[in-house]
Amino acid sequence: MDFFAGVRPLLFSYVLINGILITLQTKEEVLLDMRATGGEMGWLTWPLDQGDKPGWEVVQRTLNGSQFYTYSVCNVGEREQDNWLRTTFIQRRPAASRVFVELQFIVRDCNSFGDSSVTCKETFNLFTSESDADVGTTFRKGQFKKVATIAPDEITSKNELHINTETRVVENLSRKGFYLAFQDIGACVALLSARVYYKTCPATVKSLASFPETVAGGENQALREVSGVCMDNAISEELPRIYCTVDGEWVVPVGQCQCKSGYEEVKDACQECQAGFFKAAASGDKCEPCPANTQKLNSGALVCPCMDGFYRAPTDPPTGPCSGLPSAPRDLVATTTQLSTGKLLLSWQPPEDTGGRSDITYSIECQRCEGVVCQSCGEKIRYEPASTGLTDTKVSVSELDAHLNYTFTVEAHSGVSLFASQATPRANKPPSTSVLTTSLLYTDPPKITSMRLVERTSTSLSLSWDVFPRPRVQSRPIRYELTYRKKDDNLDVTTYIVLILEKNFVQISKLAPGTAYLFRVQALSSDGTPGGSSMEEQFETSLEERLTQNNTAVISCAAVGGAAMLFIVVMVLFLRRRKRNSHTRQGPEDTYFSSSEQLKPLKTYVDPHTYEDPNTAVLKFATEIHPSHITKQKVIGAGEFGEVYRGILKVPGRKEVAVAIKTLKPGYSEKQRQDFLSEASIMGQFSHQNIIRLEGVVTKCKDFFKHAMIVTEYMENGALDRYLRDHDGEFASFQLVGMLRGIAAGMKYLSDMSYVHRDLAARNILVNNTLECKVSDFGLSRVLEDDPEGTYTTSGGKIPIRWTAPEAIAYRKFTSASDVWSFGIVMWEVMAFGERPYWDMSNHEVMKAINEAFRLPAPMDCPSAVYQLMLQCWLQDRSKRPRFGDIVNLLDKLLRSPDSLKTIADFDPRVSIRLPSTSGSDGSPFRSVSEWLESIKMSQYSENFTCAGVVTMDQVLQMKNEDIKNIGVRLPGHLKRIAYSILGLKDQTSTLSVFAV
Ligand code: AMP
Repeated sequence: MDFFAGVRPLLFSYVLINGILITLQTKEEVLLDMRATGGEMGWLTWPLDQGDKPGWEVVQRTLNGSQFYTYSVCNVGEREQDNWLRTTFIQRRPAASRVFVELQFIVRDCNSFGDSSVTCKETFNLFTSESDADVGTTFRKGQFKKVATIAPDEITSKNELHINTETRVVENLSRKGFYLAFQDIGACVALLSARVYYKTCPATVKSLASFPETVAGGENQALREVSGVCMDNAISEELPRIYCTVDGEWVVPVGQCQCKSGYEEVKDACQECQAGFFKAAASGDKCEPCPANTQKLNSGALVCPCMDGFYRAPTDPPTGPCSGLPSAPRDLVATTTQLSTGKLLLSWQPPEDTGGRSDITYSIECQRCEGVVCQSCGEKIRYEPASTGLTDTKVSVSELDAHLNYTFTVEAHSGVSLFASQATPRANKPPSTSVLTTSLLYTDPPKITSMRLVERTSTSLSLSWDVFPRPRVQSRPIRYELTYRKKDDNLDVTTYIVLILEKNFVQISKLAPGTAYLFRVQALSSDGTPGGSSMEEQFETSLEERLTQNNTAVISCAAVGGAAMLFIVVMVLFLRRRKRNSHTRQGPEDTYFSSSEQLKPLKTYVDPHTYEDPNTAVLKFATEIHPSHITKQKVIGAGEFGEVYRGILKVPGRKEVAVAIKTLKPGYSEKQRQDFLSEASIMGQFSHQNIIRLEGVVTKCKDFFKHAMIVTEYMENGALDRYLRDHDGEFASFQLVGMLRGIAAGMKYLSDMSYVHRDLAARNILVNNTLECKVSDFGLSRVLEDDPEGTYTTSGGKIPIRWTAPEAIAYRKFTSASDVWSFGIVMWEVMAFGERPYWDMSNHEVMKAINEAFRLPAPMDCPSAVYQLMLQCWLQDRSKRPRFGDIVNLLDKLLRSPDSLKTIADFDPRVSIRLPSTSGSDGSPFRSVSEWLESIKMSQYSENFTCAGVVTMDQVLQMKNEDIKNIGVRLPGHLKRIAYSILGLKDQTSTLSVFAV
């Protein structure tokens, strides 16, 4: 019987098309599709020979012009039907152990067959058989296992056709392929479609991990675990995993991937942060806009770096905003609170601009200025609560000295200050300091503690007195009012003479011989009014030359004429004199008084060798110290006669002081002992701030040869040449000129005393811890003998050639003018930070060059005015050289107007650093960067160059100033030296002739 007999074809075709559509929409991997084959399937039917009662038959139909095939069987009238239809061999995919079999079929209603309905069935069976190979037409029923009985949901009657769809699962497949078989046992069935497929979880991207297409598991593995791979620019701490269900669905992703820093997730991928955005770490977050005061970089930024002038403190998050430096504290004021304890209260307002930070603190720096020389106040000053890390806007400062100017610098800091100072040079930063120069308004004048007679003649008395507290050198001078009168004056008509003095000594002349005078001295307060305790003493002129009695008439007459009158005259004269300027020469009106300023120095230097017994000279000019008062601590140098020690001098009743102790080694001859002590005899005659001060000598000890010593004040920083070399580039011109001013002042004092030093050189200048420079080395023999620079001349002496004026070398004409020449060389040494004058030229070459009018060139960075002064000192004609007085005045002028130091003298690096083009001193090219650095005395930076990868001279030649700074050369002096040297290396036209004048 034909299965389709009487079934309406239109309805049938509609359902078929629909069925195909449904099939296409599913996401399965199809192994077999009867309908998609579009042709005769070639399935095997069994039994092979069925005579006129065939079993399953293939039926071809045409729908809309296309052909399709169905299998049907309809032997409903027959008994014991057992008709098999077997598919072709279905290859299995290795992972597909579970396949779905979807069948579309029609089963006709048995009732529609009348009598046949007795044996008629309405179901059929689905079987399967696994095999590793296609067995062709061999068919054995026994090899098939039953999968299911397939029954229709709806059966098809004559008028109504119902297509049933049933899906069955075949589990646990393991062999290479399998067959399906349909067993009919007497139904009227049409198999319209059979589709065999397995399910997969499709390739997917979940949580930024990609997972491959995966065959869904079966009964024995319901969830299949699959490992994935993070997408480009995404990372994950643990391996990303996911599970594929039997239904082909992905579930439970584990171990998420996240876009790495600089990337964010956009549509299942990681995309670079846009320009102006950043992401610092791997996370699921979006990129964030760059915070305040940062640079908006290109895309993909991990952090936004700070804009110039803005910084992050090390504790600031790198993702946070950057902050600027605070501006200077405002309205800094000082209030004197307790004069007696030298206390000031400094207070100020917070900076206007805190740079966006709240962690503002303040620090205080104190500089103490005496005249033009300023130095750090040191540890003596007390700050309450502290000098650094202040959060409050006030601090109390105590232990200040009256009469001194203090400069307080209050600096505002924030969390970025320290960091900023490392990051960029100071010049690029806003000022964060406020400066205030003040002094204690100390109006109490010092007390006079003692008054004594220094010298007297029949007509004059020289007096001096002490004050407490003692005036500091170069501080505002204390002025004194000295009043004196004849003791026996009628007290009703007393004649006073009043002198206003700026020094604590005076010589009063034109007095009456053998007469007692009463002197009262009192210090003046800063506003000019007398105050403090006064001291009155009586002194008498000597009796000789009483005949000058008449001269006293000047005073006596004045006294008779009226004391008030005389007083007024003196005062008027005093005021007039002050107005004119205290440096003017002494005029006739000064006859009544004289202070040291109006007098030539009281003393002139006395050559100790003029004494018959030089020991007498020592006794006269030096104080004998008992050796038990001296403690030697440490050897600090080597003198000609023995070691030089640092030590302590503690004289009973006096404060202990640090001293230098020059010793005379045992075994010297009497002559040498005298030479040794002659230095003390000379030094002992001097008393000046810039001359090394003699404390005393040890000569009278029993064991004399062991203990002969010269004790001088201790100069903490030792010899000037070495000190400058050790601090190359660390001082500003202003400070260097300040040092020169001190040396010049000392030399002026010596020349005023008619002392010619003969060996003025930076090595013979000592420097103390306040950078004060003092002239030293006054040995007599040493000028000719012990100076290492000394060169024997034809006349037998030794002369330090490169410091000595030509006339002194040529015919031993040593004068203050030749000392001025040497001072010029010292100026050069100082401005060149201890460079050796004329470098490695021989003494002979130096003399020749000087005779040919060559002079040292300006040191690097030397103010033009200072170099001009050097050239003046080196004038061939010694009478044209400036005098030390002129030099002091000029240096003072320069120091008073710092702008005058701004014009820098021309500098030629090829001469000053002695770099003949690209070669070492022997003319051969520098073989290495370290050799070159050594030649310019900058070896300490070798490692910086190496670390920065600058290892060849070619690389050195490419360096710009910025590069030098970046590798860590910070000191301006060093920076310049290296930069100038590179400049010199580049210039092939090196010559020495440029320093001809
Ligand atoms: P002189 O024999 O004077 O050349 O001294 C030799 C060395 O001892 C000097 O170069 C200094 O280093 C040291 N020296 C001499 N005098 C002093 C001093 N007053 N203070 C510190 N160091 C000194």
